[in-house]
Amino acid sequence: MAELNLILMGPPGAGKGTQAERLVDDFDLPYYATGDILRAAISEGTELGKRAGPIVAAGELVPDELMCDVIMERIDTPEAEDGFILDGFPRTVRQAEVLDDALDRRGRSLTVAILIEAPTDEIIRRLSGRRICVENQHVYHVEFDPPKVDGICDQDGSRLVQRDDDKPETIRRRLAVYREQTEPLIERYEEQGILRRFDGSRSPEEVHSHIRATLATLALEAEI
Ligand code: ADP
Ligand code: ADP
Repeated sequence: MAELNLILMGPPGAGKGTQAERLVDDFDLPYYATGDILRAAISEGTELGKRAGPIVAAGELVPDELMCDVIMERIDTPEAEDGFILDGFPRTVRQAEVLDDALDRRGRSLTVAILIEAPTDEIIRRLSGRRICVENQHVYHVEFDPPKVDGICDQDGSRLVQRDDDKPETIRRRLAVYREQTEPLIERYEEQGILRRFDGSRSPEEVHSHIRATLATLALEAEI
């Protein structure tokens, strides 16, 4: 396969970031997560951070033009020449159109849209117990994936915190926004023939091995 251009889709808490960490190791691709990029900008107090801060805190979506610029800037870097993993983008039909057009103009296209699904009660349990590290946003769960030392990241030793938007009221709003604005993209990628669905209620290891198997099959098909 010439390029591996992946997008990770699914409701908040389905396990996109958790799987992305594994896929980055498997395929050595650059990883662009719009949520991580926004949280870093907010904590650094950049222009982007100042605009996005109140919107993210409310569980709403940051304007499409801003997000498209953020992503296209990264896709155009040399490190993304052989492929990339996008997480949290596109999240609206408009973002998907801009991405498709921009890739098309560059003679590129998406290879696969990985959709990770999980039932709502499981999603709420996951988001309520999620912790991330302040240094690199590595993901943990107080019950399902605890760190070796309480409150400390296994990978970089930094402090673990709860995201501001992982509070019950904001979780509910984010789920509603997902259904209204992001779910319609599923049909788009289904029509394009690049959608692959995964049962996110399985263990992280099982979800990972299913995704890997699917990507291996796609790579084989591309060679034939
Ligand atoms: P989760 O993985 O839990 O769904 P993210 O970390 O991807 O959450 O995103 C956190 C927040 O950042 C979103 O609720 C939204 O406010 C903002 N955000 C992230 N990606 C986008 C995007 N593509 N478009 C608009 N807003 C976004
Ligand atoms: P997303 O990026 O889709 O918002 P995350 O990868 O951040 O989701 O996962 C949300 C929470 O659920 C985290 O606390 C993570 O440790 C936990 N988690 C992720 N995948 C699983 C899984 N398959 N089973 C149980 N918990 C999981």
